[in-house]
Amino acid sequence: DTQKETLGFQTEVKQLLHLMIHSLYSNKEIFLRELISNSSDAVDKLRFEAVSNADLLAQDPNLRIRVEFDKEAKTIVIDDNGIGMTREDAIANLGTIAKSGTASFLEKLSGDEKKDSQLIGQFGVGFYSAFIVADSVAVETRYAGAATNEAVRWVSDGSGEFTIENIEKETRGTRITLHLKAEELEFAENHRLRTLITKYSDHISIPVEMEKVVYPEMDEEGNPKPVDENKAPEFEAVNSAKALWTRGRNDVTEEEYKEFYKHVSHDFQDPLKWSHNKVEGKLEYTSLLYIPSKAPYDLWNRDMQRGLKLYVQRVFIMDEAEAFLPPYMRFVKGVVDSNDLSLNVSREILQNDSAVDSMRSALTKRVLDMLTKMSKNEPEQYQAFWDEFGNVIKEGPADDMGNKDKIAGLLRFSTTKDDAPEQTHSLANYIERMPEGQDKIYYIYAENHNTAKNSPHLEILRKKGFEVLLLSDRIDEWMMSSLQEFDGKSFQDVTKGKLDLEEDSSEEAKKAKEEQAEKMKPLLDRMTEVLKEKVTAVKTTDRLTSSPACLVVGEYDMGLQMRRLLEQAGQ
Ligand code: ADP
Ligand code: MG
Repeated sequence: DTQKETLGFQTEVKQLLHLMIHSLYSNKEIFLRELISNSSDAVDKLRFEAVSNADLLAQDPNLRIRVEFDKEAKTIVIDDNGIGMTREDAIANLGTIAKSGTASFLEKLSGDEKKDSQLIGQFGVGFYSAFIVADSVAVETRYAGAATNEAVRWVSDGSGEFTIENIEKETRGTRITLHLKAEELEFAENHRLRTLITKYSDHISIPVEMEKVVYPEMDEEGNPKPVDENKAPEFEAVNSAKALWTRGRNDVTEEEYKEFYKHVSHDFQDPLKWSHNKVEGKLEYTSLLYIPSKAPYDLWNRDMQRGLKLYVQRVFIMDEAEAFLPPYMRFVKGVVDSNDLSLNVSREILQNDSAVDSMRSALTKRVLDMLTKMSKNEPEQYQAFWDEFGNVIKEGPADDMGNKDKIAGLLRFSTTKDDAPEQTHSLANYIERMPEGQDKIYYIYAENHNTAKNSPHLEILRKKGFEVLLLSDRIDEWMMSSLQEFDGKSFQDVTKGKLDLEEDSSEEAKKAKEEQAEKMKPLLDRMTEVLKEKVTAVKTTDRLTSSPACLVVGEYDMGLQMRRLLEQAGQ
C-alpha cells in the first residue's frame, strides 16, 4: 500500500506561487541557489543529529550535494544525503508556509508586477522557486534513520495540488527532480550550472558536486578509445566547500559575503553591512554579523524568529540561537562559531552559560560599533538603516542599560528645528545647536507628529529658540522613561511640571509677576473650585505665548500617553 493521496496547497502558497512565477522572470536562476541552500541546511541538520547518533551517517558518511542534468529528459536534479523528510514533514514543509508575517505580506501586494517582485524578494522564495523554471517538480525523500521502504515521493505542477505516496529509496536524504519548462532548457547544461554554483553557492561548506566530464582517452594513433558505458559516473566538487566564516577577511570577496548572507538569512536582498571577526584568547569564536537592508514583516513582534546560526567547531548546532544578542538586535543575522561550547548545548544551557554571556556582550558591542561607525562615516546609509530599524533600536535603552549612552548616540529624532516628520537629528547635533542659557534636552510626546509639533506647550520654547524633540512613535515614551541624560544634559518633558523658563529673572520682573499672580488669585481660586474634580491646581504660566491655557502633568506623574495606553488596556 503506497497510500497515494492528492492534497491542496494552503491558499497562501497558491498566491505566492502565482506571484513568483509571474514576477521573477528576470531572475530565474535563483532557483538553484534556493534548492542548494535547502540541501545545505538539511546536511547541517543531519550532521548535528549524528553527533549523538553516529549510526545515522553509517552507509553514507560523505556529506555532499549533487547537481545532475539530462538534456534529453529535460531535467535537473538536486540530490543531497542530508536529514531528509518524513511524509508528515513533506506535507507540512512543501504545502504550507509557516513563516510569520505571511498574511501581512500578501496584503501588501498590489498586483503591479514590478512592485510585487521587489516585495517577494524581501519575503524570500525558498523551495517554491523551483516552479519558476519547472512545470513539474518531484521530491523523493527519506528521513535519516527511516527504513528504505519508508521514503516518500511528492509531485506537483505548482498549480494548486500535489500528490504524495510512499516509495522505496535506497539512500538517505532528498532528491529533487525539476522537469524544465520548454523555454528553460538552457539550464540543463554543464557550463551554465557550474557557473551558477560558483556564483551563488561557493560558500556552501560541503561539496556541491557535478559529474566529471570524461574525455575519451586516445590511442597511439590519436584516435579516441571506446568509453566504458557501464562505469559509474565520477563526481567532483564545483564549489570551494569551505565554510565562509573560517576564511580570512581578505580572502572573501564582497559578492561572496553577500551570497552567504542570502543563504543564512533566507533573505533575497543584499545586506546593508556586515562585520566578520575572529576572536582568540580566553574565549575562541568567529562571528559574522549582518545588518539587513530591509526590515522583515514581523520586526515589531518581539517574539519573531531571531538570532544567529550557531556552530560549534564548524558543526551546525541550531538556527535562531537568540542568546547571543539582546532582543533589540533581533534584526541582526549571521553566524557564530564557538570553540568553547559543547556539541551537546541546548537552548536552556545557552541561557545560563557564562561563556555565552561574555560572547553576548562582545557581540552586542560589535553591532553597536558597526552602527556607530556607519552613522559617522556613511550618514546616508545610516539614515536608511534608521528608517527601517530605528523603532527596534529605541527598545535599546530599556533593554540594555549598560550600553545606554552608545545607544542614545545612535538615536535619531524629528525636532522643532525643521518640524519635519522624518527622524534625522542626533542628540549630539541637538546639543551642538543649544543656545546660551539652555541646559536641558526638551522633548514632547504626542500621539502623532502633527499634534506634537502644534502643541501649545512648545510656544515658549520656540520663542526662546530652544529646540524640542518631537516624539510620536508608540515606543518613544517607553524609551524616554529609561533615558535620564545624554552628554551631561538631562531630558525634560515639556508637558511636565515647572519648566524654569523665566523670561527675565531680575528683581523687578519677579515683583511684577508676584503682583500679577496676586491679582489673578481670585480667578484661579474660582477656576480650581469649578474644575476640582478634574485638575489638581490652576496656575499662571510662562509657557504660553498665544494659547490661553494648557494642561500640564505633575513632575512625577505618569505621562499623558502612558495614561492613555493604560486606560485602553482597562487599567
Ligand atoms: P526555508 O529554507 O526558508 O525554511 P524553503 O521554502 O526553502 O524555506 O523550504 C521549506 C522547508 O522544506 C525547509 O524549511 C525544510 O524543512 C524543507 N526542505 C526543503 N528542502 C529540503 C531538503 N533538501 N531536505 C530536507 N528538507 C527540506
Ligand atoms: Mg530555503
